[in-house]
Amino acid sequence: MKKILVTGGLGFIGSHTVVELQNSGFKVIIIDDLSNSKIEVLDNITEITGVKPEFYKLDLKIKSNVLDFFKNKKIDGVIHFAAFKAVGESVQNPLDYYENNIGSLVYLLQGMRDNNIDNLIFSSSCTVYGQSDELPITENAPIKTAESPYGNTKQIGEEIIKESCKAYAMNAIALRYFNPIGAHPSIKIGELPLGIPQNLIPYITQTAAGIRKELSIFGNDYETPDGTAIRDYIHVVDLAKAHIAALNRLLEKKNTKSFNFFNIGTGIGTSVLEIIKTFEKCTGVNLNYKFVAKREGDVTSAFASTKNANEQLDWKAEKSLEEALLSAWKWQQKSNNV
Ligand code: UDP
Repeated sequence: MKKILVTGGLGFIGSHTVVELQNSGFKVIIIDDLSNSKIEVLDNITEITGVKPEFYKLDLKIKSNVLDFFKNKKIDGVIHFAAFKAVGESVQNPLDYYENNIGSLVYLLQGMRDNNIDNLIFSSSCTVYGQSDELPITENAPIKTAESPYGNTKQIGEEIIKESCKAYAMNAIALRYFNPIGAHPSIKIGELPLGIPQNLIPYITQTAAGIRKELSIFGNDYETPDGTAIRDYIHVVDLAKAHIAALNRLLEKKNTKSFNFFNIGTGIGTSVLEIIKTFEKCTGVNLNYKFVAKREGDVTSAFASTKNANEQLDWKAEKSLEEALLSAWKWQQKSNNV
């Protein structure tokens, strides 16, 4: 049985990926510092899969923690989710973002190198493209100067991995996520935003639940058919499955270059107003909303070309937007996050 280390394995995307890994017959070891996740998620993963993953509460910013962890462990691959991800917070506190997102990655790679572990999947983001001139966005679209320290950590992270692959004969795949949403169909795991949600879907579900008074739509004069911004929203279970496809590609030595990267989205662009309408239709709940100024750093439109992921990873997003929104709503009702 192949053993996979998942850092940040109790987080939103991490927990769904652990479920898919266990369902695909991998043995999982989770590292998480619980800075943006709850230990209960471990039990919920166990309930869904019937298998309890090995778990270590560990801060990856401390080099000795990381290097000690790897000693005497046989690990076949690493999926690295653990990172801070709030754009606004990263502007307020860039050094914390560089320390956490870059420092930890360097230590992890050193641990892997020293223990001859050579397969890595890295959580990257479509934010590396900024406002792309081409739509849908292919992997050949140029990388734009990052709009935030958070975005910069993803760009630098990819560079560090690429150079490490070259120097130490490692193999890696960066997955550039578009907008992950939804919850596991069991409604046992989902997104757990801390405080006021920054992302659209948790803000919508909290508004629908009466926790927030109204949703603010950031901008209604974008150059799009209805004036609101367009994104590519992907069900988190589909996204989780993309990690299994990428991991298998590495384990089967099918990666064409030592470092590859793929866009992970549905290929479909949906506006904020379309999201609201779809949410109202599939849940039967009406949302209070108002239009406010654009949010700084937001792009007009971003959706993925999924050709490379479809063909080279043999993976495709399968779940509908309705399914994703309904699962997010059920999760909200169950967890009643504040
Ligand atoms: N958005 C919004 N109101 C909110 C949160 C988000 O109108 O309270 C919009 C945001 O401007 C963007 C889209 O919803 O056009 C998705 O934003 P999110 O923060 O979820 O993801 P991003 O694409 O910024 O990573």
